[in-house]
Formats: sequence, structure tokens, C-alpha cells
Amino acid sequence: MNMPVKPVIAGNWKMHKTIEEARELAATIVSGYSRLGRASIILFPPFTAIREVRNTVSGSGIRVGAQNVFWEDRGAFTGEISPPQLKEAGCEFVIIGHSERRQFFHETDETVRKKTLAALRHDLIPVVCIGETLEERDRNLTLERIKAQLETGVFSLEEKDFRRVVIAYEPIWAIGTGRNANPEQAEEVHAFIRDLIASRYGKNAADCAIILYGGSVKPDNAFSLAREKDVDGFLVGGASLDAGSFLAIAGEALRAGEE
Ligand code: PEP
Repeated sequence: MNMPVKPVIAGNWKMHKTIEEARELAATIVSGYSRLGRASIILFPPFTAIREVRNTVSGSGIRVGAQNVFWEDRGAFTGEISPPQLKEAGCEFVIIGHSERRQFFHETDETVRKKTLAALRHDLIPVVCIGETLEERDRNLTLERIKAQLETGVFSLEEKDFRRVVIAYEPIWAIGTGRNANPEQAEEVHAFIRDLIASRYGKNAADCAIILYGGSVKPDNAFSLAREKDVDGFLVGGASLDAGSFLAIAGEALRAGEE
């Protein structure tokens, strides 16, 4: 599976959209995308709409992923979905360890590690989410928390596998709250993540690593965030449900890269 080129703009549709609504949204994004061909766009619809969205974006360069995966290939795991099932439906990516999964479904850095390995085993590109709570930020524990999440969740990977992982820094206090990290706050953590990657895997792996920011990204804050040196794109939730705002965010990220 080819790694996407930067900037990467990913849309997490969460538990929104019927199959028909998902098809319409994907089709509108495809029409606008022809003017934005240099950004990598990845759509993460709900499981039921993956196939429809995959068919709708086929041939456009837009790619598709899932919002979650289990670490076994098959078996008695009611309600779970496996990497081969996602591949068959047309996924190339999968979000792992989103804060909503951690908060509501008790996922941990250890389940992130298992899911990441399972995704890679099946040639799915994991988008691994990390981020601190507001309490951790207030207690000055942000960098410590980020380091622990990376060390348990992904740094046990060999370098060749790590090079196929996308990291998404999503401060939990910024997700769905309308309160985004300001560009300096985001850059501080992104630069810290890149330094940790350099210490673990070397400078080249760190330079190539894709580190997305997520948390209340909107068309009007995307430019200033994307201008930061270590912000390689966005994982967008709420604003990805509207084709106009999602495409505007992609446009702002491209504009920031051209400066
Ligand atoms: C997300 O779901 O990953 C996210 C960042 O959501 P929002 O953009 O709505 O804050």
C-alpha cells in the first residue's frame, strides 16, 4: 500500500450518514477534488457505507478507510470487524485508538498496539491517534502522555513497519468541542513527536513520518495550523460532514504548503 503524499486531509465521519447520504457526500467531494489534486484525501465512512463510498470515489485518487478494526482475522468476536473484511470492502487505511474509542469503549495503548500490528499484517495503513486530556495538559503532563502512548502503541514496531504508520495528534479537549489547539500548541507536540521518532528510528524516518493534527479543524483555522513546520495535514471530524468545509480545509492546507 502506498503511503499518501503530504498534505493529508482525512475525514472521520464517525457514526453519521446513511449509505445514500454517504454516496452523495463522497460524490460532491469527488467533484470538488479535481481542483485540489495535490492533497491526499482519505474518507472514513461508517462500516455500512465503506463499499458505496469506495465505488463512488473510484478512479478519483481519493482513498477510503475504516474507523476501527479488531486484531483477530476471524472468530467468535460478536460485533467486531477484521482486517481482511475491511480490505475486501475496499479500505486502504484504518483509524486506531481514536479518543472516542478509548473513552467509550475502554481501548488502551496495548489494544492500539495489537490493532496496529494486525492492520499492518494485512497491508492496511494504520492512522494511530494519540492525545492528552485537559487534566493532563493542565498538570503539564502532555508530553509525558504522548511519549507513553507512542512507546506502547507503536515504537515496538520495526522501522520498515513504522514507516507505514500515520500518526494523528488529537488533544482530547479539542475534539468536537469547537476549541482547537492553537498553532503553537500543536507545533510543540508535533515537533516533540518527530523528535521521538528520530531518536527511535532515525532522522530519515522522522522526516518522512506523517503527523496529522485533529481537533476542531475548520476552514478558518486550517491555514494557520497547516503553516506549522511539523503539521502534515489534518484528521477532521465535524467539518468533514460538509463537502464545502472539508474541501476548503484541504484548500487551506495546500495554500499553507505553497507559502
Ligand atoms: C475527530 O473525530 O477525529 C475530530 C478531530 O473531530 P472534530 O474535528 O469534530 O473535533
